[in-house]
Amino acid sequence: MVVIGGGIAGCASAYYLAKRGVRVVLLEKGRLAGEQSSRAWGFVRQQDRHPAELPLMVAANKIWRGLEDELGADLEWTQGGMLALARDGEELAHYEQRARLEQAAGADSRMIAPAQVRSLLPQLEQPVLGALHTPSDGHAHPEKSTLALAAAAGRMGADVIEHCAAERLVIQGGRVTGVLTGRGEIKADAVLCAAGVHATKICRMAGLELPVRSVRSTACATAPIPHFTRLAVRGLDLAFRQTRGGNLILGRVSDGSADYDITLEAFRHVRWFLPNFFKNREMLRLHLGRPLLADLARALPGAPAWFRARRHPFAHTVDMEPRPNLRTAEFNRRAFERLFPSLGEIRIERVWAGVIDTLPDLIPVLGATEVEGFYLATGFSGHGFAMGPIVGQLMAALITEGAAPFDLHPFRFSRFREGKIGKARVLR
Ligand SMILES: Cc1cc2nc3c(=O)[nH]c(=O)nc-3n(C[C@H](O)[C@H](O)[C@H](O)COP(=O)(O)OP(=O)(O)OC[C@H]3O[C@@H](n4cnc5c(N)ncnc54)[C@H](O)[C@@H]3O)c2cc1C
Repeated sequence: MVVIGGGIAGCASAYYLAKRGVRVVLLEKGRLAGEQSSRAWGFVRQQDRHPAELPLMVAANKIWRGLEDELGADLEWTQGGMLALARDGEELAHYEQRARLEQAAGADSRMIAPAQVRSLLPQLEQPVLGALHTPSDGHAHPEKSTLALAAAAGRMGADVIEHCAAERLVIQGGRVTGVLTGRGEIKADAVLCAAGVHATKICRMAGLELPVRSVRSTACATAPIPHFTRLAVRGLDLAFRQTRGGNLILGRVSDGSADYDITLEAFRHVRWFLPNFFKNREMLRLHLGRPLLADLARALPGAPAWFRARRHPFAHTVDMEPRPNLRTAEFNRRAFERLFPSLGEIRIERVWAGVIDTLPDLIPVLGATEVEGFYLATGFSGHGFAMGPIVGQLMAALITEGAAPFDLHPFRFSRFREGKIGKARVLR
């Protein structure tokens, strides 16, 4: 069995597969957790999930609570609760409806009044109408968590190979039989693609069209400040948590919070993306420039050979360092100081960006495909860190037993071909 991709989805799948006694090779083209899985804010929330994801996240929450013990590693897991602040009546009504939905699914979400918000977060100096509070939610260190799952997979007998890209799938008679890498072919009767934004390219090798848009998202970390909260908080244009070391991780949740670089890929699958693009257009800032030119240069027949003839189809994506939006970091700093003036000035210490694999309906693909033995766990659309452990468990069950203990129908790959794509709004 080969797992392609050393992010949290691939590492968790490799771990739970190896734990079931499957011989697993995990291939990572760069370094483990080099892409989205080290760049996430680290929120582990059941709150405000797509209804199809909610049961998975309720189960994931239970795994996260015991994951440090299970892996024997420090993940900086902090079960401090999650707070979604409502600034107006529309947000309040949304969260009231969410509280009912989440309670019915077994989460401990509940609405709290402004006075309770003040007692949970006394330093907040902006008025709110109330908040959705989920005490069992938490946050963790994304890179430590992903690396710990990879290490545990290794201890269970998986071969975890970094700097080794899956360059081609070997398919014979409609079923996958192996993977070609720079180090030779690895025979496999099953392959799981957990390749994040690169999954489209891998699917194409199997003759499958997976519609993914790459959306650039910027986050930042401040210098440490004295501890003031264990909560993870969203609302009033900002998302934040405080790490064990005292640093604040800040993300933007207002209009223009995501950057979209137009590339050749943007002109594909337009009919699938348009409905949700219009629904979420105020979140996106479009950029026309270098990424499109680089794409064109690679695609044109007259392009210089040194540019096109790379070592393998993923070579130009190894250890990519997406350009962060510095204005977003500054926006976050100001927003935090406006909300919490008594905490004084904060200093941004590090800014980074990650490229999010976004599907048209903003929920992942989890399951088998038309090619026998070829599975997908990808397209997490900006919230796959929290789902990592449950995704690993259910993919391991599906691959070894042919069935998963959850309803995976909403996540089927065939929904795109069937044209059954739900409308979804990016949840902030
Ligand atoms: C700024 C930001 C904040 C976020 N905040 C949160 C959050 O708070 N909570 C949350 O739940 N989610 C969050 N997310 C989303 C979350 O990070 C992702 O959904 C999750 O990490 C996806 O994991 P993954 O394993 O699917 O993909 P990735 O982590 O992107 O891993 C895919 C891996 O596959 C490898 N790969 C690709 N092609 C090949 C190949 N051909 N051969 C070998 N390897 C290959 C890549 O190198 C990469 O390492 C955030 C994302 C960003 C960018």
